[in-house]
Amino acid sequence: LLLAYDPARRLAKLQVQMERAVVNARMIYALLDTQPMQRDKPGARDLSVTDAEIAFDDVTFSYGNGQPVVRGISFVAEGGKTTALVGPSGAGKSTIINLIPRFYDPSGGRILIDGQDISDVTKASLRHHIAYVSQQPYLFEGTIRDNIRYGRPDATDAEVEEAAKLAYAHDFILAQPSGYETPVGENGVTLSGGQRQRLSIARALVRNAPILLLDEATSALDNESEAAVQKALETAMSGRTVVVIAHRLSTVVNADKIVVMHEGRLVEEGSHETLAQRKDGLYARLNNLQLPEPTS
Ligand code: ADP
Ligand code: MG
Repeated sequence: LLLAYDPARRLAKLQVQMERAVVNARMIYALLDTQPMQRDKPGARDLSVTDAEIAFDDVTFSYGNGQPVVRGISFVAEGGKTTALVGPSGAGKSTIINLIPRFYDPSGGRILIDGQDISDVTKASLRHHIAYVSQQPYLFEGTIRDNIRYGRPDATDAEVEEAAKLAYAHDFILAQPSGYETPVGENGVTLSGGQRQRLSIARALVRNAPILLLDEATSALDNESEAAVQKALETAMSGRTVVVIAHRLSTVVNADKIVVMHEGRLVEEGSHETLAQRKDGLYARLNNLQLPEPTS
């Protein structure tokens, strides 16, 4: 308990949270970037998506010149299915997610989408097929409508509202002083955590991308918000290839596949039923300690 009040520790924790928030904002901006990317390989083709199957093939990655933080990772996130990444903090889950839109490139191995090495395709076409919902929903300065439309700048008003309905956000939006034209962000109305999350889910839905990367929230919402967010996420996940950093036991249990990470390695892979039975496995142990771990 004393440790929790240690100012240096608290500061370090805050620092980490701020870095994450910056990465999340960068991720959203980058995914929206429709400009041709400069760093494509000469002759890079556009990604052609059929099943939206993602395959990691012996992937290793290190930040800068440091030690690899993920090593020898191979798994398949099947098209239209949900793959949950679980494991202790620092295991490499966020890093794996960040490799998919190519915020970083592997130092070894390959990542394939429908058989195409993502380092051979244009970044714009790769990111066009990916939506991302972050742990901390990020709202931009602007109206509610603007905030949803950030997901796809050419979306019509009708498409924005359809996405909001699917994200269980339409009703609370209409209850705001100016409905969809209500300003949010620093100078706008204050929305609850659950409302912000539903807006960020609506933003992902309006993209209508076949691949959804999802970093589940760790902090609990009030029960009503929790239920609405959960339903919105179920809509967003349905029919898409989902790679989710899972913090909720229900997400893990319902996933088609669970990938268990520890210290940069994939240590176990399988369904909840299979993994829970391996009593000496990490998953069974985490599970007994009431998955999820309290922090990401
Ligand atoms: P998880 O999401 O499972 O908590 P991460 O992928 O965030 O794990 O981190 C894996 C390792 O990489 C950790 O040791 C973390 O400190 C390190 N790491 C994460 N992001 C960076 C970064 N931008 N620069 C250097 N090291 C990083
Ligand atoms: Mg993480």
